[in-house]
Amino acid sequence: MIDISTLDLAKTIVVATGNAHKLTEIEAILGATPALAGTRFVALGELGDFADPVEDGADFFENALIKARAALDETGLAMAVADDSGLCVDALGGAPGIMSARWAGEHGNDEANNDKLLVEMAEVPEAERTARFHSTVVLVTRDDCGEEVLRGDGDVEGSIDYERHGHNGFGYDPLFKIAEMPGKNMAELTAEEKNAISHRFHALQDLSAKL
Ligand code: IMP
Repeated sequence: MIDISTLDLAKTIVVATGNAHKLTEIEAILGATPALAGTRFVALGELGDFADPVEDGADFFENALIKARAALDETGLAMAVADDSGLCVDALGGAPGIMSARWAGEHGNDEANNDKLLVEMAEVPEAERTARFHSTVVLVTRDDCGEEVLRGDGDVEGSIDYERHGHNGFGYDPLFKIAEMPGKNMAELTAEEKNAISHRFHALQDLSAKL
């Protein structure tokens, strides 16, 4: 555990994620921007055992903001990064969208979520199975003058398969056919290959261009 009182407020970003892989990805891309040179990125979980905030926002941006603001409230730090992401299927009016993690009921039950997607899409013809993964990343900075919010957005385009392929990744990866890589589903990519094309990668690039 890191003692918050030892951190330099001006040079520390708390990353509101419990996912070590996301922390590495965020640090690699945002830490490489000149504006954040010398900044230390710490995961919220390294600073204490905080309860997850209720993600009741209307969209990915609002949920990312809820997570970043909760991290600032809990730690008293001045800068926080958070992301929110999900799968948006055109034939389902953008669902599961912000409900992606808990679409079939239980939070994080990937198998049940994929089973539900197969059922919902069973009668949808090939040409209408288009979908995308979306990510919104926010950097929230607070000082005595108030709050500044920067956001980045990214997508990876694809379509929904009729059956699972591949065992890598997580979430809806086995059913997601990648538009720019015909014949490949997301779960068939290595972590490095996925990181180079992912919605989160594009959202972080978008954010870093605004720093
Ligand atoms: P989170 O915002 O990263 O926690 O993602 C919310 C949910 O969206 C996950 O539980 C997955 O169901 C889905 N999701 C987000 N990103 C991905 C991805 O890269 N692959 C597959 N599913 C994803």
